[in-house]
Order: sequence, then C-alpha cells, then structure tokens
Amino acid sequence: MDYISTRGKVGAIGFIDAVLMGLADDGGLLVPKTIPQLSADTLAQWRQLSYPELALELFSLYIGNEIPRADLQKLVDDSYATFRSPDVTPVRRVDDNLEILELFHGPTFAFKDIALQFLGNLYSYISRRENAVIHILGATSGDTGASAIEGVRGKEGIRICILHPHGKVSKVQELQMTTVDDANVLNLSVDGNFDDCQRIIKELFADVAFKQQYHLRAINSINIARVLAQTVYYFYAYFQLENRGQASGTVNFSVPTGNFGDIFAGFLAKRMGLPIGKLMLATNENNILERFVREGVYEPGEFHMTYSPSMDIQVASNFERYLYYLYGEDAATVAMLMDAFKRDGKIAVPADKLQQVQKDFAAYGVQNDECLATIGEVQDEYGYLLDPHTACGVAAARKLAAPGDVTVALATAHPAKFGEAIELLQIEQKFPPQIEALFDKPQRQTLVGGTNDAVKAELLKFF
Ligand SMILES: *Cc1c(COP(=O)(O)O)cnc(C)c1O
Repeated sequence: MDYISTRGKVGAIGFIDAVLMGLADDGGLLVPKTIPQLSADTLAQWRQLSYPELALELFSLYIGNEIPRADLQKLVDDSYATFRSPDVTPVRRVDDNLEILELFHGPTFAFKDIALQFLGNLYSYISRRENAVIHILGATSGDTGASAIEGVRGKEGIRICILHPHGKVSKVQELQMTTVDDANVLNLSVDGNFDDCQRIIKELFADVAFKQQYHLRAINSINIARVLAQTVYYFYAYFQLENRGQASGTVNFSVPTGNFGDIFAGFLAKRMGLPIGKLMLATNENNILERFVREGVYEPGEFHMTYSPSMDIQVASNFERYLYYLYGEDAATVAMLMDAFKRDGKIAVPADKLQQVQKDFAAYGVQNDECLATIGEVQDEYGYLLDPHTACGVAAARKLAAPGDVTVALATAHPAKFGEAIELLQIEQKFPPQIEALFDKPQRQTLVGGTNDAVKAELLKFF
C-alpha cells in the first residue's frame, strides 16, 4: 500500500516510511492512496475472528508485503497479549439502548494503549531490521505519555523522552510515567504548561540536523499507524453485537473527541464498508469540532479547562485527514484551505459541503456540569462508573440517538485515571491493584525550565 500527503507534495511512500515520517514533509498528513473496500462476504468471514486475528487481517490490507505475515502476526500478538481482557476491547451492555465499548483494558488504562502498544513494537521491529537506534520524543497532557512509555520501556534500540507540564497532569498519570525505572525512559517535567511542551517539541523537530543526527521519531496521533490500529475495534465491536444478535443493520458510534484521531478511525472503517450509522462526535466545552459540524466553520474558540483534559484541545491535528475526503481527495484544495487557516485562523465550508459533513457526523458539546451529571446518573441507574471523557460520549449518545438505534459509546479511559473528578461526585471507587501499586513506587523525573536549550541539554545527556 502506498501513502500520500493530504497536501499532495509527498508520495507515494511505503507503510514503514509513512510511520517513520509521522507528519508529512510538506506539512500535511499521510493517508493511504486508496481505501481498501470490504465486501459483505469478507465481513461475514471476519465475524468470528479474535481481536488479534482481526487486527492482522486489517493491518495486512494497509501494510501489504512490506512486513512478512509471520512477523506482523508476532507484532500483533505481542501488542494485545498485554491487555487484561481476553476480548481486548469488550462491549458491555449497560441498557437496551446503550452499549459501552471498553477500550481501557491495556497497561495504562486508557484507549491510547491500543495504538501505542502496537506502535512501540513496530518501532522496535524497524530498529532491529534497519539496525538503527530510534529516539522517540513527545509531549503529553497525560495519557499519551504514559501509553507511549509503556509501549517501549525496556525495548532494545529505542529510547524515549516525554515532556509533561510539571504538576499539571493527574496524579495517576504522573505516577504511570515517572515510576517506570527502565534506563531507556526519560521523563522531563517542564516548568510550564502543555502548550510550552508542545512548542519545544515542535521546534526541536524543526531542527532538521538535530532530528536526523539522532533519528528523532514522533508518537503523536497524526501517525498513520495509530489511526489504522484504532479502526480494528470498530469492526470488532460491530461483530460482537452481530454475534449476540444485537445488530442486524447499522450501528452508531459515539466518540469522545479531542484531536479527531479516534473518530477519524471510525470514519475510515465506515468508508471501508462497515455498516456504521451515525458517527457521533462528542466534545467538552472546547467545542470547535461541534461548531464545525453544526455551522460549517472551523475556528478555534476560547480555551477551557474541563474534567476531561485529554479533550481540552482547540486545533484538532487529525482534522485535515477528514477535509481531504470531504473535498474528494483533492490535495490542492486541502493545501489551500490549510493555508487559509494559517492566515485567517478559520476554515468555512460552503452549504453543499456542510450537508455532507452532517451526513458523516452528528455532534454534541458537553458542558462540565452535564459531564458530571452523566457520571452520577449512570452510576445511580446501572452501577457503572464512567470516566469524564467517556461521560461526554454517553451524554452525546443519549442526545443524538433516534428511537430504535443501536449505539455504542466508546469508553476511552478507566475512571481510576481521573479520580479527581469522580471525588467531586462523592462516589467512592476502588482502584485496580495495578494503579493502587503505583502510589508506593519511587518516581524518576527531571525538572527542567521551559526552554528549548534546557530540554536539548537533557536530551544530549540522555542520548
Ligand atoms: C486522547 C484521548 C481522547 C481523545 O482522542 P482523540 O483521538 O484525540 O480524538 C479521549 N479520551 C481520552 C481518555 C484520551 O486519552
């Protein structure tokens, strides 16, 4: 399979090059040159596959013969053997109209493990095959850092450095990152906020000589491997419902959205032929994407801190991939729109395009009080505890589903990761033992000032 850039100036490159490139060299995002189409027969054959078997089939379509099937199978098996549920991503029936797709059974209790366990193993495979050390550099507001570290800790040929804003991630997130004692992991706790961390990373990646000398690689959600890994659970969830006799026609998915990576994976699954009805886009008070779906204008608003910090995002880094398909794979138009966005700070689509957007997505923005109220209600009614991100998706599902619809809400994190919000509701939760154990472990992190030079000095020591 070949990959090309949404802005038309990169391509065609193979899968491994696309993974290593991360952001396309022309500033765009990499997409498969053609989206594989699945027949009803193929879907019927895949119905009984286990999660790893299904992942292997889907990845094979996008990787082709660049990775021999036996190697790919080992990568997939290793990546999902670390999950605590035999189904990897089980669907829990909460009530007749609401199914919860639990994506938090990986090592760090957030859905990012699903893609980052695979990407970690893939980087390690590439490093062995090409006999080169890979240095991963990333910034996190919490979940990505923990998942990425867990994906590569102790692996030969890989070193990872994650920047997080000092004192501004949840306690559990901080412990998950800083109690890892493998020598190939460096946590820099930056005196500043998440935007400072992201700016430093961006500028270090822009230093081409530095980037090339140290083989710097990215792990953020614009990496095409992450998107592909996330398509698998849409299929697997659909098949679980089908096998239980709970889905005969289309199924809706409600997706708590920040950078648009997760919901874009659902969009891709639908384009491949999975019978998805509505893709429900749930935001918190940072509702740029909700406004886009309602009004056709994509324009950052005021930044809000919410109970769902992993969705506190104004500019969704994967959104450009959707624009590319909205405009019929016309890279020149996408490049023009992204230039306009840089210049004017917004993108407005015409009425016919807005109609298409509203066919592709339904959207709902959840206010802070509604988020907490949803957690409380679902706990009272069903004894099922939602984390604040998942609660946004459940609130959106309740708002947007029509009578008779089958809707699956994606549970993107375990509530134990966001104990601070759950405590506000005076709900007592019992932490899983793996999280409980973190509180007794020593932490390892280096405090640094929020400047490129300070971070670079630490990196040079580490490399
Ligand atoms: C990252 C994250 C999201 C948002 O996912 P995107 O792919 O950025 O849209 C939602 N919930 C949780 C818990 C996350 O960690």
